[in-house]
Amino acid sequence: MNDTNQASTQPAGGPRVVARNDHPISRANISSNALKVLYRLRDSGFQAFLVGGAVRDLLLDLHPKDFDIATNAHPDQVKQLFRNCRLIGRRFHLAHVRFGYEIIEVATFRAAHTSIDEDNSVDEGGRVLDERGRILRDNLYGTIEEDVWRRDFTANALYYNIEDFSVWDYVGGVEDARNRVLRMIGDPETRYREDPVRMLRAVRFAAKLGFTIHEATATPIPKLAWMLDGVPPARLFDEVNKIFLAGSAQPAFELLERLQLLEHLFPDLASALQEAPPASPARELVRLGLQGTDERVRSEKSVTPTFLFAILMWPAVLRAFAKHGQASDGDPQYLLEACDQVTSRQQQRVAIPKRFTLPLRELVGLQPRFERREGRRALRLLNHPRFRAAYDFLVLRAAAGEADPELAKWWTDIQSASADERIARVESAAPSQGAASDGPRRRRRRRRRRPPAAS
Ligand code: ATP
Ligand code: MG
Repeated sequence: MNDTNQASTQPAGGPRVVARNDHPISRANISSNALKVLYRLRDSGFQAFLVGGAVRDLLLDLHPKDFDIATNAHPDQVKQLFRNCRLIGRRFHLAHVRFGYEIIEVATFRAAHTSIDEDNSVDEGGRVLDERGRILRDNLYGTIEEDVWRRDFTANALYYNIEDFSVWDYVGGVEDARNRVLRMIGDPETRYREDPVRMLRAVRFAAKLGFTIHEATATPIPKLAWMLDGVPPARLFDEVNKIFLAGSAQPAFELLERLQLLEHLFPDLASALQEAPPASPARELVRLGLQGTDERVRSEKSVTPTFLFAILMWPAVLRAFAKHGQASDGDPQYLLEACDQVTSRQQQRVAIPKRFTLPLRELVGLQPRFERREGRRALRLLNHPRFRAAYDFLVLRAAAGEADPELAKWWTDIQSASADERIARVESAAPSQGAASDGPRRRRRRRRRRPPAAS
């Protein structure tokens, strides 16, 4: 790989300093609390920079989620400057300065050889502790020149200097952001090996920002994707939520598949989709479901991991249900068993908390009940606490061509009917007709000769 990647070689001199007039970042778009912290640090004689996602987003004319600050002040010094400050982290200390609901995170520049991970924990090397375990001297903290090299992508490694409102760029991040290129700092393979979650971060930022992953940054990913298997499932749950609930789930999903990461996050989904033909309802359900999630995020409606994971697990649940199929004669009870089976396998990769898997199980269990429109039992379904989510899921299944669209419409219409009208409808409803294709349907009790349900 001989195309000398300027961004990945440490410059001999200082940073490229982009003056205030040559970049669009305006203080008007920086949180006033973050500005307060920056100014106070500066007025106390410290270096203070806005860093990370905030600088990147402001450069791209986006609204930052939060504002992080980096400084040469030590955590104890930061704490002394702000009454509303708490130090967090057991080893490497971060300062959280709280203003009502807003927390400004202030991190001291880190020395080289301390790796950042999700919990901001770092390696323990080279510290001198006293007999009570307090740090007397350490080489955890460093200079801005050291801090920059442990960040992940060039666009995430820009520093906005409160001293003169310039942007310090050691790695070509301004140029990359302008060209919408996501480029790993340093040797990509080494950086992925240090922290495999960076592969997922690459997908997340590329999808969210509409960046292209630079070739050398993308190439090692399929080969190293297996390393995700060693990442704690709880951390993967956090990262998966960030990927899928940030308004770009659909493009992120395509990238995960293309870079062969999907099979390490959702192995059952990946294999169910591989078995399914290209325009199959299973694939459509995922595509439409993620698209719908993105639309909700963009219009600032609530999104829940429950519905998201229902989308991501459904193709595998249906497949497991179909395998049971011959034995179960399509008994909906087996749908729940299939759901439990897929959930417990999924948990080994991505730890989905019970508060999401329990409602997910209910959502799945309600699907066959939609088949039954006749009788007052159908009306009771309307009052079920999970009706809304389960109904939304039925609509999605119908749009994907897996459930009967006419059935979905019936449940749509009945919701706006009056109480009397509802009763009239369930009393005149024809007995269940089954779904459009091979989804779960109510069990036909063929062998028991019973008179048809009264209608
Ligand atoms: P977002 O807008 O999603 O918050 P962000 O870029 O701020 O994006 P964070 O996860 O908040 O991302 O991390 C803040 C900064 O810390 C990043 O911009 C990056 O410089 C650095 N960072 C975070 N996680 C890692 C990691 N795993 N490896 C290297 N650097 C990281
Ligand atoms: Mg951030």
